[in-house]
Amino acid sequence: MIHLGLIGYPLSHSLSPILHQAALSAVSMQGDYRLYPVAPGEIGRLAEMASALRNGEVHGLNVTIPHKQTIMPLLDELTPSAKAIGAVNTLFIKESKLIGHNTDAPGFLADLAKFLRNNAPEKKALVLGAGGAARAVVYALLNDGWLVTLAIRRMDLAQARTLMESFNSIVGIRLLNLVLLEAGDLGRLDSGIQLIVNATPVGMFPETDFSPWPSRLPYPDGAVVYDLVYNPRLTRLVQDARASGLRATTGLGMLVEQAALSFACWTGREVPLEVLYGAVEA
Ligand code: NAP
Repeated sequence: MIHLGLIGYPLSHSLSPILHQAALSAVSMQGDYRLYPVAPGEIGRLAEMASALRNGEVHGLNVTIPHKQTIMPLLDELTPSAKAIGAVNTLFIKESKLIGHNTDAPGFLADLAKFLRNNAPEKKALVLGAGGAARAVVYALLNDGWLVTLAIRRMDLAQARTLMESFNSIVGIRLLNLVLLEAGDLGRLDSGIQLIVNATPVGMFPETDFSPWPSRLPYPDGAVVYDLVYNPRLTRLVQDARASGLRATTGLGMLVEQAALSFACWTGREVPLEVLYGAVEA
């Protein structure tokens, strides 16, 4: 019997239990996947969850907002990608050590690859936001050879600079630019942006009428739009981009991919992605 779960807050709309219960059934494993709501600042509760992993009460955990970074000091080791990203979403025990890993970055890249038809010699992406998911996306894109421009709110300048400094020291060269997420700055960007990724929560349920893209600003010609938000299934950004003739998708595929990768970390078993898509569709 394997016990899995998710730490975060709030968790009421999480699809993770549906995905992981379907995964357990698909590989005929007995087990459960529980939600562990831990409010911001409840460090003692996070420490209890870390102990539950160490003493074998729980065998694997996902971590989501707001604990992807706050839980890191409680872990013994980080995988190289989790260390570079500076955030974890998957915890497991290996050789008696509590390990933090990040499956958001490979999950994003795996889903993007299905969606993108890009043969351009130079790949240019615009990433909106500078939070935890943006860090995973930027890490994934830089490692995949993209030039990345971050677009952020003025109030997030310090956060974005921290992100850029940490990645510049890893990547070694300045592959990252920074602009404000405002019509003026975005309108002055050079052409050639092939990919726009929304890594802000703008448009997420229940505030589904909003888009992070400034209204009336044309989208870069021929760009594709990847919105990490997956609830609602069609976000305002995706609807607007499609109405402007662009190809656009929400982040359900990334959610499925990262779940499959986390499940493999805990169980060593690969789950057919159709099973997971089937579960969320149902
Ligand atoms: P986060 O750490 O809170 O970061 C969000 C970023 O967006 C921060 O830089 C935040 O700035 C900024 N932001 C917030 N409101 C904004 C606004 N109105 N305009 C512009 N920027 C704004 O959250 P996260 O973990 O990165 O998650 C971001 C989104 O990605 C969420 O909707 C999440 O559900 C989604 N996500 C999807 C997947 C998937 O598998 N599809 C995986 C991970 C995340 P402040 O810090 O100043 O608020």
